[in-house]
Amino acid sequence: MRSYQNFIGGEWASAASGQTFTNFNPADTREAVAQYPQGGRADALAAIAAAQAAFPGWAAQTSVARGRILSKASQLIEARKSELAELLTREEGKTLAEATGEVQRTADIFRFFGGQSYVLGGQTIPHDLPSQLLYTRREPLGVVALITPWNFPIAIPAWKMAPALLCGNAVVIKPASQAPAITCELAKILVEAGLPKGVLNVVIGSGKEVGGELATNPAVVALSFTGSVGVGSQIYQQLAPRMARAQMEMGGKNPTIVLADADLDLAARLVAIAGFGLTGQACTATSRVIVERSVADALTAKLIEKAKAIVVGNGLKAGVTMGPAVSKPQLEGNLNYVQIAQQEGASLLCGGARLTDGDLAHGYFMQPTVLGNVRPTARIACEEVFGPVVGIIPVDSFDEALAVANSVDVGLSASLVTRDLKKAMLYTERIQAGVVKVNQISTGLALQAPFGGVKKSSTDSFKEQGAGAVEFYSKLKTVYLDYSA
Ligand code: NAP
Repeated sequence: MRSYQNFIGGEWASAASGQTFTNFNPADTREAVAQYPQGGRADALAAIAAAQAAFPGWAAQTSVARGRILSKASQLIEARKSELAELLTREEGKTLAEATGEVQRTADIFRFFGGQSYVLGGQTIPHDLPSQLLYTRREPLGVVALITPWNFPIAIPAWKMAPALLCGNAVVIKPASQAPAITCELAKILVEAGLPKGVLNVVIGSGKEVGGELATNPAVVALSFTGSVGVGSQIYQQLAPRMARAQMEMGGKNPTIVLADADLDLAARLVAIAGFGLTGQACTATSRVIVERSVADALTAKLIEKAKAIVVGNGLKAGVTMGPAVSKPQLEGNLNYVQIAQQEGASLLCGGARLTDGDLAHGYFMQPTVLGNVRPTARIACEEVFGPVVGIIPVDSFDEALAVANSVDVGLSASLVTRDLKKAMLYTERIQAGVVKVNQISTGLALQAPFGGVKKSSTDSFKEQGAGAVEFYSKLKTVYLDYSA
């Protein structure tokens, strides 16, 4: 079993309380993965103080110097890819292939922002008069807090941390208690790459205590959060009184719309990947299949075939294509939603049960699940499950499909499968989602493109990822200079 500590001011430290907790492999709970400090407010305060002390020196470096450290970190992550991926699978449960992809993405994120260090800056703007220089300077914010979820335990910390550090901020990160190991490994890598002490601090512990301190401490000038709508909304309220900068990226209820003219083999494949991949534990996972009634039965049959072909098991085993739910409460929540859906009139077409054969009994495994005849207003069609559960909603027209897709209070990602270019273009205009896909999976994002939701999926004031991610982590100063005299 591994053992980790908090990382504060360049030192690895136990929690002030002296308490610890242990995480177990969700694919086999007989295996203890790692022990962690149960941090609280005192640890968060120490981390904020360390970040405050480190900030001026880090901010004074050029962006190119900071970028070199990020680029070096990218190389170190890539060199340790297989070891990091295995650790990720052991703690979070996704398959080794999925974990390897996430670690590679993390290396790419650091490489991307290392490159961005050469173009980070303001803009020169033509002035009305001669002999005037009008330009903007991009400056860091100060101490920035990051609060991250367990489902992408290295990529999400990375896509927040890299632009935050590039812009010259000092960072305190609180990773999800369910999977903090890989964030600690990332901190070690950044130290090896040359990050000065105190510029990055990691505090593991209770969301309410550690997260609560980060959300309310006046020294924290900006907070970027990814997680559930409930927690994100609460943090947003905590930041508002002091007008701290807020970036809240939250859940979704993502549709894949399948029109009658679609290639149904393609549609079934896209839904199976986006619905059951990553055990459905992706914020952009497809959970609603909104399909024109004339092809609903044919699509459903193809989707069931795909679901049945999925090999559920320990993600470290060759041939396994879907891992466990991350935890017992998550598994129980998924199974509960299957019950609720049936009570509300949906029919269970495939899956729906826990898997307990042989070694599976030691993990949180369930069958990929397809529910038919789901009503658009049923809870299963409106609430995020965050598991491998897909509901089929038959509709009579393209317009009805759009209305149903837009009827929920979140809007993260959406996909449409069609060969009709006109309808595809109308959909891109009318769909209420931050990420809009045509003939593609609702999951999967290009790290160089902006990402974020609309409605209750996001505060939607700043996008994550892509070159524009620096907007959240920096402020612009406008400079007027007269050299006419
Ligand atoms: P969560 O329960 O909201 O937790 C997210 C983070 O917030 C964790 O680090 C958690 O700490 C912390 N936290 C909990 N209570 C807190 C409080 N009162 N104050 C401050 N921080 C607190 O979400 P999750 O279960 O980890 O992640 C799943 C959710 O994330 C889903 O809703 C999913 O859709 C969403 N998600 C969204 C995106 C996106 O980009 N839009 C991406 C991935 C995931 P503890 O772990 O210690 O409780």
